[in-house]
Order: sequence, then C-alpha cells, then structure tokens
Amino acid sequence: MSALLLNLYLKESKQMAELANCPQCNRIFVKNYHVVCDTCYKEEEEMFDKVYKFIRKKANREASLWEVYEATGVPEKVIIRFVKEGRIRANQLPNISYPCESCGLNINDGRICNSCKKRMNSDLRTHDHLTQKEMDNNRITYYTEK
Ligand SMILES: [Zn+2]
Ligand SMILES: [Zn+2]
Repeated sequence: MSALLLNLYLKESKQMAELANCPQCNRIFVKNYHVVCDTCYKEEEEMFDKVYKFIRKKANREASLWEVYEATGVPEKVIIRFVKEGRIRANQLPNISYPCESCGLNINDGRICNSCKKRMNSDLRTHDHLTQKEMDNNRITYYTEK
C-alpha cells in the first residue's frame, strides 16, 4: 500500500467514527456509510418501499410527482432524491421533472441534464490531454486556492 493510499485509508476510517449531526433530523449520530442517522435511514427505506410499491403498478406509471406524494405521503423532494440517486428509474416515473443541478433545465433522470453531462465529459477529455507540466500547475493553483 502506498503512503497516499494509506493516508486516504486512515482518513476514511477516522471518518467512520466521526460524530455528526444528521442532515435530516439534526440528531447527533456516529457517521458511518449512511449519510443520515439510523432512524432516518430506516424511515427513508420505508418511504422508498412505499414509492416503489406504488410505481410498480403499471397504472401508476403515468403518475405525476404530486400524485405519488398524494398516494404514498412521501414528500416530493424525497422522491426526487430517490430519482437522483438512481434508485428510481426515469422510465418508472416518466412524468416527473426537477431542475438540473448545473443549469436548472427540467430533467427527469440523474442530477444533471444531457448537455451538461456532455460538457462535463468534454471538460474531462480536455483534462486528459493536458501535459504533466500543466497538471502540476493546476495542482499548485488548487492548493494555493485552498
Ligand atoms: Zn436523523
Ligand atoms: Zn444542465
């Protein structure tokens, strides 16, 4: 294991025992691989179950976000999060839409729209073509910015 990897590993395991405020309910909990506390995690799993059972029925595929909320009681922003996390597929709920995190265009799949995805991909490709020297320069800029 290289020193860099070891460092990352130590940092990760330290974070495992880190105390944090749950972003949902603000209770203090031991941060582990869930981003929310156990209570909220269980609640979220139950909400996901409800939504999933609802959209599994073919007749409900055309439901809007509001209709899913009416039927399941699951808040719209939670449903949107399930879609962003990829737990609910766009073809399971084709009628919902929410803004792209990058440009605000309405989308119904993932976190960003296709054109932003394309732009980011080409940015990444450009990055691949940078010479080592340019990458070092970038790294220096990055560190001084911090
Ligand atoms: Zn919580
Ligand atoms: Zn976009």
